[in-house]
Amino acid sequence: MNNGSMNPERIVRDSPRMTRDDRFTFHCDTSIDCFTRCCHDVTIVLTPYDVLRMKQALQIDSSEFLEKYTVSPFGKDQKIPAVILKMDPETKRCPFVNAGGCSVYADRPWACRMYPLGMAEPDTPTPTEQAFHFLIREDLCKGHGAGKEWTVSDWIAAQGIEDYDAWGAAFKELMLHSFWNREELLTPEQIEMYYMACYDIDRFRRFVFQTRFLQLFDVDEDRVEAMRTDDCELSDFAMQWLKFSLFHEKSLKLRHGAEKAARAAMKKSGQTIHE
Ligand code: SF4
Ligand code: SF4
Repeated sequence: MNNGSMNPERIVRDSPRMTRDDRFTFHCDTSIDCFTRCCHDVTIVLTPYDVLRMKQALQIDSSEFLEKYTVSPFGKDQKIPAVILKMDPETKRCPFVNAGGCSVYADRPWACRMYPLGMAEPDTPTPTEQAFHFLIREDLCKGHGAGKEWTVSDWIAAQGIEDYDAWGAAFKELMLHSFWNREELLTPEQIEMYYMACYDIDRFRRFVFQTRFLQLFDVDEDRVEAMRTDDCELSDFAMQWLKFSLFHEKSLKLRHGAEKAARAAMKKSGQTIHE
């Protein structure tokens, strides 16, 4: 979560690094003066699991969710699009905040759950440079130093972050892949494929079930059945498909004799296929 006055690099550089056992004191409820102030003019980068949880909560299709509630800026220095929660252009409010608080509270994004904790992760962790947490202190937030003392672990458990971390693991692996350190750029078709597989899960489902996809890839039948209705299973599969098609990893198996057809189909969409 970033409210624009924060400089992420400076925060990560200057904030004391916290382990899971480190403690902080924090309190937030409807009685606090600053209630929902943190839901205004804020940059919330969404993960695929965030999108999936919120579109399920709203009972809408992922394409509709993305269209209505997100923006995907794509600057010239970016290799892949990010998906960001769209604030109201006039009031700068999050579309989900109201007088009672967050209307999607049970399914709020990872960044909203974590606040006021942040997390930084090096691209290539080493024994001395590992992921760490840090406390975000902003003038607008009056919750610091009051109420309960938390360990970082307790906060993570209380905010329901473990599910988000578990289902987000495959996406995180994709993000930290060494492929992104190369000069190589994705084609517009590959960028579109990445966006669909990561975020537009209902469109990806149609791509899997309404094209020749399953005639080309050898996928376990139980998994195919699960993917028909279970967004999380399908999203996990989508990450494997991206590794196969973007990074040329053998994360999926082609059916016997399907290589030629798969190569032609992928070439048509601007991709190549490993031998
Ligand atoms: S600004 Fe801080 S204390 Fe106030 S509502 Fe947001 S998280 Fe809670
Ligand atoms: S999703 Fe909920 S918690 Fe997050 S900024 Fe919007 S209203 Fe606030």
